[in-house]
Amino acid sequence: MNRDRIVVGYDIGGTKIGVGLADSNGKLLGKARIENKDTRPEEILPLMAETARKLAAEANLPFGAISMFGVSAPGPADIPNGILTAPPNNKHWRNVPVKQYLIDALKLPGVFENDANCGALAEWYFGAGRNCDDFIYLTMSTGIGGGIVAGGHLIRGRGYYAGEVGHTVIELNGRQCNCGLKGCYEAYAGGRAIAQHVQALLKDRPDHPIVAFAGGKLDDVDMSAIEKAVRAGDPLALEIWDEMSLRNAQGMGILINTFNPAKLILGTLAWAVGALYLDPIRKYLPQFAWPQTLAQCELVPSELRRDIGYYAGCAAALYELKERGEL
Ligand SMILES: [Zn+2]
Repeated sequence: MNRDRIVVGYDIGGTKIGVGLADSNGKLLGKARIENKDTRPEEILPLMAETARKLAAEANLPFGAISMFGVSAPGPADIPNGILTAPPNNKHWRNVPVKQYLIDALKLPGVFENDANCGALAEWYFGAGRNCDDFIYLTMSTGIGGGIVAGGHLIRGRGYYAGEVGHTVIELNGRQCNCGLKGCYEAYAGGRAIAQHVQALLKDRPDHPIVAFAGGKLDDVDMSAIEKAVRAGDPLALEIWDEMSLRNAQGMGILINTFNPAKLILGTLAWAVGALYLDPIRKYLPQFAWPQTLAQCELVPSELRRDIGYYAGCAAALYELKERGEL
């Protein structure tokens, strides 16, 4: 591997933009964050470019040492053209040509990739997926996004939709999903869907322990409140958790038998909750995957955890360099 490759990466989130500077040996050389709450692109884009120059200067590197930039973008987005079409949580960003702006401002080539794919690439170059050419990264957060690395390649699909694991229908005529389909895996195991389901169940029971763990506010019931209620032994919370675990095993079993990965690397809930999250999934997996494929697949939490954003765009840039034969 060429030791001299240095890349800059951006992770565009709902409330912040993570900026990272990294090298091709898996080392993060610098990081910064830009607040991005209710901002306008015309104020933030110049700041993004400026922050890259600042990180290079702080690392005592000439800006010319950087080979490429990468952008990790939330959906929906026009991936090949690098345009953020309508990111959630910010009404000012509509059809913003982020990639072209940065190409012009940084005078660097760049790549634009969806955030779940970037998460997979980040774990590949910097985290739990190092030296592993067959693995799947699952975000396991408010929703369930996936990035699939198979045979040493990121699977993007014909129209960049590959890896939308959370919208695999696992129940015929099942629960309504935000995407329009019914019975999606995410509708049973995504953090937002579970919270909404519990809120609906408890709408006439404001004194329920789960609501108490959410500070007494039904609208604030989230995965954290449900987790606390599970640890306290609340029967309804235990039932919800068990269903979530079974559905996770169902969704993951499909992936394990389809791709025969060496690892499933799991994001947010897996590392935040730990064994209470992972163990019940492991218990149910033999119902959904063959013993052979299951024996070859390790279930592990993300190593990069909440810092993954600093690595996400960098990893996309490193992968692009590799694809171009420049790494
Ligand atoms: Zn769906």
